[in-house]
Amino acid sequence: MTSPNDPTLRSFIDVDASSDFPIQNLPYGVFSTAANPSPRVGVAIGDQVLDLAVLEREGLIAAAGANSVFAQPAINPFMALGPTVWTQTRGRISQLLRHDHPELRDNAALRARALVPRRDARLHLPLHVEGFTDFYSSKEHATNVGVMFRDKSNPLLPNWLHIPIGYNGRASTVVVSGTAIHRPCGQLKPPTAEVPSFGPCKRLDFELEMGVVVGQPSRMGDRVTAAEAEAMIFGFVLLNDWSARDVQQWEYVPLGPFQAKAFATSISPWIVTREALEPFRVEGPKQDPAPLPYLQQNRPNNYDLTLDVGLKTAKMGHAQRICRTNFKYMYWSSAQQLVHHASSGCAMTVGDLLGSGTISGADKDQRGSLLELSWGGAEPLELADGERRTFLEDGDSLVMTGWCQGDGYRVGFGEVEGTILPAK
Ligand code: MN
Repeated sequence: MTSPNDPTLRSFIDVDASSDFPIQNLPYGVFSTAANPSPRVGVAIGDQVLDLAVLEREGLIAAAGANSVFAQPAINPFMALGPTVWTQTRGRISQLLRHDHPELRDNAALRARALVPRRDARLHLPLHVEGFTDFYSSKEHATNVGVMFRDKSNPLLPNWLHIPIGYNGRASTVVVSGTAIHRPCGQLKPPTAEVPSFGPCKRLDFELEMGVVVGQPSRMGDRVTAAEAEAMIFGFVLLNDWSARDVQQWEYVPLGPFQAKAFATSISPWIVTREALEPFRVEGPKQDPAPLPYLQQNRPNNYDLTLDVGLKTAKMGHAQRICRTNFKYMYWSSAQQLVHHASSGCAMTVGDLLGSGTISGADKDQRGSLLELSWGGAEPLELADGERRTFLEDGDSLVMTGWCQGDGYRVGFGEVEGTILPAK
């Protein structure tokens, strides 16, 4: 059978070369429509959504045998079926959408029920998030933060080059793109203040990250190998780890972030599968010193994935790009993060979400947070309309996009957007 990643594949549905969703992608999401308000699983193809619940009911796909797995408000039941079913299902969906395959192409009545214009689809959180863990795996980001928060001459703490540093975050406040975010309140103590006070965050930031969607569990007490970790990864989303920097700076010693990161995390609505990203796999940065044996990898585990951040203030007509970087710069790979996460015997579950950590590159315009872009507020960003920003203001919208560029097509993620509302 032809690989669903074959660059020459075409769909009978017209897809523009600049679209994020060609037949080589086939990302999963959860959507509803005015005509059918039940959230269900679909796949993005060009400007359409393919309703998998319809195809399943009609017997055209049977991921779970006779049982329903797509007429569900989350992708978790499908993920639980495992990597063999993921591969078979993606292959079958690809076949059904091919320009030279008649089953769906030539059935006008079925097409009318199974294909929904994307503009008519309301997109929901695609998974039930069981747990959210956030890592800190960009060496450039960790170095920049270390210089600002701690010690210019020794920015990386001694553990950083040996451990994929992370913390357990909150699953309860992971929201889908388009969800507005109220400015959080918290305990603040600027360096000049004698005592802390409680009030709205004054240094509200974003963090450009990728999110790994874990689709298979590990048992409590068991470790996983790099190969097992890879097989557990269902796919990836764009992730904005909203951060209250003033709260963070006061609270993070000695146990790490708490309320500064707990108020909101936004993700993109389409989960791009690990399989769709295979053609874009690349070596990560050389790891020196060599990681301990349990963290060693025997294949490239990074991805050549371009990432953009746009900022739109309340006065601006459209977003202005303030960062362009690449996921390939990450020092610790997603596979290493997952291996490390399970290394104590911590059980991983279907629906766990792992944030990569802020993705920054070596150049100034590759920094994935305002903390770094404005250098702690010391170097305000000059926007095209004359406004300036150090941190986010009420009414500001943040948009992240990402894609892997193939020859004549791109495997993209759509966007994750969020607008800041005043504190409650
Ligand atoms: Mn983060």
